[in-house]
Amino acid sequence: MSDSYANVIAIDGPAASGKSTVARTLAERLHIPYINTGAMYRALAWKLINSSREITSLSSEDISAFLSTTKLACVVNKESGLFEIEIDGVRPGGQLHTDPVSAGASAIATIPEVRSWLLDTQRSMAGETKIVMEGRDIGTCIFPNAKYKFFLTASPEVRAERRLKQNGGAVDPETLARVAADIAARDEQDRNRTTAPLKQAPDALFLDNSELDLEQTIDVILKQVKKRDILLSRNTVLKYRVPYADTDQMGVVYYANYLKYFEMLRTEMMIAAGESYQQMEEHGYALPVIEAVCRYKASAHFEDVLEITGRIAECKGVRVKIECEIHCRGKLLAEGYTVHACINREGRPVRAPQTLIQLMTGEV
Ligand code: C5P
Repeated sequence: MSDSYANVIAIDGPAASGKSTVARTLAERLHIPYINTGAMYRALAWKLINSSREITSLSSEDISAFLSTTKLACVVNKESGLFEIEIDGVRPGGQLHTDPVSAGASAIATIPEVRSWLLDTQRSMAGETKIVMEGRDIGTCIFPNAKYKFFLTASPEVRAERRLKQNGGAVDPETLARVAADIAARDEQDRNRTTAPLKQAPDALFLDNSELDLEQTIDVILKQVKKRDILLSRNTVLKYRVPYADTDQMGVVYYANYLKYFEMLRTEMMIAAGESYQQMEEHGYALPVIEAVCRYKASAHFEDVLEITGRIAECKGVRVKIECEIHCRGKLLAEGYTVHACINREGRPVRAPQTLIQLMTGEV
């Protein structure tokens, strides 16, 4: 897995495309944090509106003064377990979803200083575990290196109807037309602003969910996340600096350690594929080694950085074969494979689990 990928599921798209519901549900299913960046712009707009400031007439100095006296935080709501926006110690909650705040958020989002002020906050939220972050520029500007990117949209009519239902309003033609016009105006502003405009990242999956319900949308996204995990895990490169403890009296890596390196690679491959070896064991599978082969081409020494790579070469019935290569500074040091028999908790042979089959075929 490349270190340069951010462990972020980026969900971008226009207003009322269903992003928030999809992003929140996805985060719940994966037991990972969900960050709604729109709420950050909304909170800033809310504060300005409350202090009776006209957003469109703010000077550059006004913006700097405003931002330097604003404290924005993402805090966990103890009841829902979800992140909530806190601005200057206050949590505006539902007040962030009024029409003036929506329009104000879209206006404030055109200001470059505001966007760069929020960029650091948003970037600092990514880490070791996956997160779901939704917005307009997550896959393009905040995390152009996100591992998973989606651009979610729906037809203007569907979006207007969803927004009305979400707000508990009547769905009569007149109101529908007004809401559709509001959404279109916001989209227009988001798409045409100079800094970080709303657009699909070239490597994002375009997903029009007009005809899909929530479950179907989540299903498409989860499958895609899994597929990406598998794809990345197939390119797993484990870098390992040889410690003194791995060398023998001749000053080279002791031959038996290469099998340990093969095992380290297998562990990483499975973690990258989204199901660790430990999780697989919890699901009732074990993969004892029934054959191990290693051909030695050159020696490795203390402090050499080894590049260990591998792939599932065979996954048929109960038999799984994993090939491995170890390089150092571009030179092949050792290559080989292990063959595993897949067994269940009772020690009986069983068909290999789906994750391993998927790891080989790439099919989800
Ligand atoms: O997603 P939501 O509708 O709550 O966002 C409110 C507004 O904040 C959007 O209309 C958009 O102008 C702005 N926004 C943005 N970039 C983001 C998230 C939201 O410009 N990443």
